[in-house]
Amino acid sequence: MGLSGIQIYKMLPQTNCKECGDPTCLAFAMKLAAGKAELSQCPHVSDEAKEKLAEASAPPIRVTTLGQGDAAHKVGGETVKYRHEKTFVNPTGIAVALSNQMDAGKVDAELGLLNELAFERVGRSLQPNYAFVWDQAGDQASFLDLVNKVGGATDKGIIVSSQDTATLKAAAEALKGKKFAIHPVTADNADELLALCKDVGAVPVGRGDDLDALAAVGEKIVAAGFKEALLDTGWNGLRDTLTANLAVRRAALDKKFRPFGFPTIAFPCAMTDNLYLEASYAAMLIAKYAGVVVVSTLDPAVMQPLLVNRLNIYTDPQRPMTMDQGIYEINNPGPDSPVIITTNFALTYFVVSAEVEGSRVPTWLLIMDTEGMSVLTAWSAGKFVADAMAPFVLKSGITDKVNHKKIIIPGYVAQLSGEFQEELGDGWEVIIGTREAADIPKFLKDYVA
Ligand code: SF4
Repeated sequence: MGLSGIQIYKMLPQTNCKECGDPTCLAFAMKLAAGKAELSQCPHVSDEAKEKLAEASAPPIRVTTLGQGDAAHKVGGETVKYRHEKTFVNPTGIAVALSNQMDAGKVDAELGLLNELAFERVGRSLQPNYAFVWDQAGDQASFLDLVNKVGGATDKGIIVSSQDTATLKAAAEALKGKKFAIHPVTADNADELLALCKDVGAVPVGRGDDLDALAAVGEKIVAAGFKEALLDTGWNGLRDTLTANLAVRRAALDKKFRPFGFPTIAFPCAMTDNLYLEASYAAMLIAKYAGVVVVSTLDPAVMQPLLVNRLNIYTDPQRPMTMDQGIYEINNPGPDSPVIITTNFALTYFVVSAEVEGSRVPTWLLIMDTEGMSVLTAWSAGKFVADAMAPFVLKSGITDKVNHKKIIIPGYVAQLSGEFQEELGDGWEVIIGTREAADIPKFLKDYVA
């Protein structure tokens, strides 16, 4: 955010109507300046002020979205160079390269993976995001067949790439109405292709073989008024691409150099023929600032580690991963099944639920919101204590699902069993469970025996 709270305040209506949820316009302006409020929370701000504030509050690396509906994926929006400074925001888009030199069976298989591949991890669905549709053969007819096939098969983002402007125009016509990108916009074709992007609502992908050439294209993209774009630093090896990514990121964040204020796209698929090397290059490029990486296959064996690597880099280090508070059913529990309570720290949930599932004992798992703290941390912070747990259990709805009043607590908080039983009231029995999740299967089997 480039503006101070006072500068923002001057652009607000200054009526202190409180509709934004803050007592005064000044309080709202201060929150906005700190990035803790959204401009849309004030319904009375003028269109002119909206435009100025939106521009001033835009992140130094713009957000670019490709794809439609639920399949749309955003990249960019980054505000820091290092994750520990704050957090990275929008996960690197993973694109698969599909070309008109590829075997049709391989194209179909990769398209199937693009649409279907998903790994569940800590409550998130991890998926690849885009297709990079490449006129590798330099043949308009076969390229258009491919573009039509991909456009008809997926709502995920598409980047069309050809060295021939007429071919790109035909591809853009075929994808009209979709949110797609056109590659490569260079110094030579910028005027024509930027006009085409404007016409069809496509995102330009600027390309320069060195940083000066890329800056020149970036300047044209900015001057043409594009708010979304991607930047291709050239199809170089890993070292040059990492160096270029770093330079672009620094220029955008430290110098607020607008021509470099867009996410970059990198091509590990073109850096090596070795699939495992390609995957490790892609992992490095995800860590070092690529907005999009283009890979040669979505083979699940390669994608799973890559997607998990991306998840780890793009989670907020200041916020623990959490599960929603509620009742989770494991192994089809019934009215007689045991009830276990624990906290909503995602790791706790996944370790405990995996062991319960492994036990094959039908079980109700009560997950309590402790702001993502693990059992002992939540207990010592006063979040997982008897007088908070009892009201949660009684209001959770578990009493409608079971015909008993027994609840199992983690062994690490055995000391709260008496007080918890008292808080739960008449007829409840609190049972001390295991300290280690690994001991849960034996405990449950013995418990129901
Ligand atoms: S809603 Fe807008 S006008 Fe009303 S107090 Fe908030 S900032 Fe001021």
